[in-house]
Amino acid sequence: MHEFIAALPKAELHVHHVGSASPDTVAELAARHEDSPVPADPAALAEYFTFTDFGHFIEVYLSVVDLLRTPEDIWTLTHEVGRDLAAQNVRYAELTMTPYTSIVRGIAAEAYVEAIEDARRAAERDFGVALQWIFDIPGESGIPAADVTLDTALRLGPGSLVGFGLGGPEIGVPRPQFASHFERARAAGLHSVPHAGESTGPQSIWDSLDLLGAERIGHGIAAAQDPRLMERLATDGIALEVCPTSNVRTRSVPSLDEHPLATLVEAGVTVTINSDDPPMFGTTLNDEYAIAADLLDLDESGLVALATAAVDASFAPEPMKAHLRAEIDAAGR
Ligand SMILES: [Zn+2]
Repeated sequence: MHEFIAALPKAELHVHHVGSASPDTVAELAARHEDSPVPADPAALAEYFTFTDFGHFIEVYLSVVDLLRTPEDIWTLTHEVGRDLAAQNVRYAELTMTPYTSIVRGIAAEAYVEAIEDARRAAERDFGVALQWIFDIPGESGIPAADVTLDTALRLGPGSLVGFGLGGPEIGVPRPQFASHFERARAAGLHSVPHAGESTGPQSIWDSLDLLGAERIGHGIAAAQDPRLMERLATDGIALEVCPTSNVRTRSVPSLDEHPLATLVEAGVTVTINSDDPPMFGTTLNDEYAIAADLLDLDESGLVALATAAVDASFAPEPMKAHLRAEIDAAGR
């Protein structure tokens, strides 16, 4: 099963740029910036990366943010994330980028966008992986962060920017306050993909659908508590970006055994499987597919259907979708 999953061409729809930094990449960045408290030795880093609790995850995440000091650092991270995705047979990914956290630390928005675009082209050339972007608002930083994120998207958003998101903690960050930002992003042709229903209940999903125009939901697992909401998601064809290990690590669900993935599928909701912040949560997309296969009792044809659902729910151009579906089909035969 693991071999089949590893060989399966895949699309990844919910994975954070900074949260995808591997220990190797962080070692490289730490060596560039010797005053950083992050160890530059890969063995020490592997230990530093070993997940202990949610507070530790935030600490690791922020230490990586602090290592991104120049456009070259952004380039390196982006290029190496492309490499790590390609190594798992991910052919296409929508990377969630948080430009605000770099802009607020002094990297100009123009330089940020130039660096990710150049790294995107290089990753496609070097590793054969296609990347597109979702710019997300770090919700905990409020309206000022939403303003900067929207401005960066509208003014500088390249053709590869396909989505507008909302991440960070949900508790204490009501979704409705960002309605006008999402309205303007959508008017500019961006797809609405907020996080909701991860650590808070179904209401944040309702708000995302009704007030933010959500076309997919990041996590959305709380929908399993609300049959009417599951019906709405199923009827409207709104896919959830489910990240099982992340949900357990952040204690949004107590254990994998209690994960609501099967409840959502039984209600007819489209689910896609994703990895969120894989090295920091000690997982990979391939591991997440194995967990989903276990939770849903999938055989190889079920895994093919799961991989295809991610392609269908993606914002890839139609010819690329057709090509990916064909590749997945061929791997399933
Ligand atoms: Zn996320």
